[in-house]
Amino acid sequence: MSDSFPLPPGPWPVFEPGWVWLCGAGPGDPGLMTLHGLNALRQSDVVIYDALVQEEILAWAPQAEHIYAGKRGGKPSAAQRDISLRLVELSRAGKRVLRLKGGDPFVFGRGGEEAQTLVQHGVPLRIIPGISAGIGGLAYAGIPVTHRDVNQSVTFVTGHDQSGETPGSLDWASIARGSQVLVIYMGMKHVRQITAALMAAGRPADEPCAVVCSATTPAQEVLETTLGRMAEEIEDSRLEPPAILCVGRSVLMRKVLDWQGMLEGIAPRDLDPLGRGRPAEAS
Ligand code: SAH
Repeated sequence: MSDSFPLPPGPWPVFEPGWVWLCGAGPGDPGLMTLHGLNALRQSDVVIYDALVQEEILAWAPQAEHIYAGKRGGKPSAAQRDISLRLVELSRAGKRVLRLKGGDPFVFGRGGEEAQTLVQHGVPLRIIPGISAGIGGLAYAGIPVTHRDVNQSVTFVTGHDQSGETPGSLDWASIARGSQVLVIYMGMKHVRQITAALMAAGRPADEPCAVVCSATTPAQEVLETTLGRMAEEIEDSRLEPPAILCVGRSVLMRKVLDWQGMLEGIAPRDLDPLGRGRPAEAS
C-alpha cells in the first residue's frame, strides 16, 4: 500500500485476499470519490473499471492491475455474464478485486446483478456507494435535485432498456404525472421519443429542461432548453453522451446557482428565478 497520500485516521476496512469490493467512483471529478473508495483503491490487487471511470482515479492504484470492462466508441460491452464470472475467477485466485463503476454502483449500473452473482458463487463482498450522476452531476450544473418551491419528489428513470431501446415497459404517462422533476439517465439516444411521450402525457412544451454532458469533468457542458425544443437542440449541437437530462422547474435555479460559472466570473443571471423572494428569510 502506498503512503504517499494518507487517509484520515481510521480504522479503515482491511481488503482481504479473495474479496470483491464493488465501488462507485462518482460521476467524474476524482474528488467526488469517497474515502472508502480511496481506501479500496490503495489496497487492491486488481481494478476492473467501466468506461465512465476517470483515469486519474485509476492512477491512485498504481500497484494494481487495471482491467477495462466497459464499452467505448459504440463497441459492444463485455457481456455482463463474462464480467461477473471474471470477478469470481479473480477472487478465487486470491486477489483483492476492486470493481469500480461510474457514479453509484446500484444506480442503473448493473451493480446489483454483479453483486448477486458474487453471492451466488460464495464470494465475500463489500459495497461502497458513490455519488450518482443524476444528483452530483446536476449539482455541478447548479441544479438542485429537490427544492422546496419546486418538487416534493424526484423520479430517476432510464432512457434505455436492456435491448438498447426506449424502455417500452415504462409507463411514460405515469412517469410524466408522477413527480415534478424527472432525471433521465441514458436518455440521449431516444430523446425525441421520450420528450414526445412526456408532452403527450401533459407536460408543457415550455417546461424548463437541462442536458448536462460529462458532468463534473473538465469537459462538462450544459444545455438549457425546454421540453419542446430539447430533442432538436441536442441534434443541432455537438453534445454527446454521457448526459443527464433533467426535466422540471428546478433547472431555473441554475440562473442563480451556476457556481462553476461564478468561479469563472460570470454573474448570476437572476437572483430569484422562481420568483419566491428569499426562501430562507421567508420562513
Ligand atoms: N451508476 C451510474 C449510472 C450508470 S448508467 C451513476 O450512478 O451515475 C450511465 C449513464 O449515467 C450515462 O448514460 C449518463 O446518463 C449517466 N452519467 C454517468 N456519468 C455521467 C456524467 N459524468 N455526466 C453526465 N451523465 C452521466
